[in-house]
Amino acid sequence: MSMEVGELKGINQDLETLKHSLPQDPSLHASLDQLMSRVHHLTEVAKFSPSRREKVKDMSAEVVDSNPYSRLMALQRMGIVDNYEKIRGYSVAIVGIGGVGSVAAEMLTRCGIGRLLLYDYDKVELANMNRLFFRPEQVGMTKTDAAVQTLSDINPDVVLESYTLNIATVQGFETFMSSLKDKSFRPNKDGIGVDLVLSCVDNYEARMVVNQACNELNQTWMESGVSEDAVSGHIQLLIPGETACFACAPPLVVASGVDERTLKREGVCAASLPTTMGVVAGLLVQSTLKFLLKFGHVSPYLGYNSLKDYFPTMEMRPNPQCSNAACLERQKEYQLAQPARDAAAAAAKAKLEAEALSVDECPLHADNEWNISVVDDIELSTMDASSSDELPEGLARELPTADAHQNLSVARSADTSVEDLDDLRKQLEALNAD
Ligand SMILES: [Zn+2]
Repeated sequence: MSMEVGELKGINQDLETLKHSLPQDPSLHASLDQLMSRVHHLTEVAKFSPSRREKVKDMSAEVVDSNPYSRLMALQRMGIVDNYEKIRGYSVAIVGIGGVGSVAAEMLTRCGIGRLLLYDYDKVELANMNRLFFRPEQVGMTKTDAAVQTLSDINPDVVLESYTLNIATVQGFETFMSSLKDKSFRPNKDGIGVDLVLSCVDNYEARMVVNQACNELNQTWMESGVSEDAVSGHIQLLIPGETACFACAPPLVVASGVDERTLKREGVCAASLPTTMGVVAGLLVQSTLKFLLKFGHVSPYLGYNSLKDYFPTMEMRPNPQCSNAACLERQKEYQLAQPARDAAAAAAKAKLEAEALSVDECPLHADNEWNISVVDDIELSTMDASSSDELPEGLARELPTADAHQNLSVARSADTSVEDLDDLRKQLEALNAD
């Protein structure tokens, strides 16, 4: 029984008591009866209002209709994930609870993530209703409060923390940093208190703030963006010191040729589609799951061009002349740890070769009449890297004019060298032109 039903029943009892203490005036009794019948009606309605499910102690793989996790735990049985329940130990911070962030939060909630930290300063508006997640009756609520309301109903197992603040202010940034560092959810965890930060903001300044925080904290994060013309988007994995940070390279926001500040100043409205935002949120959370639960490959950069149904990927190395001091520190640390990584890679390679030798000695299909040759995943990925000299058809680096980034070290694979920025810009303009 919900709280509302109990309260309404209490009101009806009070009215009953009042009725007995009233003088015998028929008109008074008639209006009181009317009032009681209305309360009774509301009580009946309230009985059908949503009630939360009980929390679940352990994730069960039992296949019954009442198990909220049976389909997720089946990922283990299918051999995709080693230990799905590990997800309950992970904390993910989502900055920006808009068209992408809110949907990403819902997906992670439904997947049973351990803890979500939600950051936004905005309120829900009717103009947001072309997107998913928020509902008209939530108009006027802060996006963080509305999100907590919906998400806690969907999955009460998820620990939700709502931060109604602007990370681009001094006070907001301080709270942002201390909340990321807080390790009370999992005290013996390595690093800071979160496992991943997802940037789902809609402007350059906020992205630079997330970049600053994650560089300082040496925290891996993922960036996402949807173009102002609503038809393309991207996600990007940023590992401080190892991949380009947001200040290393000109922003990889899908450019539409319209300056963001011009948009704000002239009150011009950027377009948005629930489809593109849903796709980008899906890609972002898919990468999050792969990153946290260690399955599949997480692309360092994945674009989405809906007009061409095209998904370009690429890699970006950090810029040794990056303007962000914390980025340079992380780069130094990463280089210092190179010998250790080389040794680990050599050991892994030797182990694989030893395994391959023993397979050669005892071939699996000795009488292979179809001449089918089996190529393992490792060989395939090496082939991919060496054959990526040319950008695939339709792929352009989405780099806007950036005179300050002439020394940029952008490479699509670890072995490819710097491309001419002007050339890249031309390719981008060509992509946007049609
Ligand atoms: Zn950098």
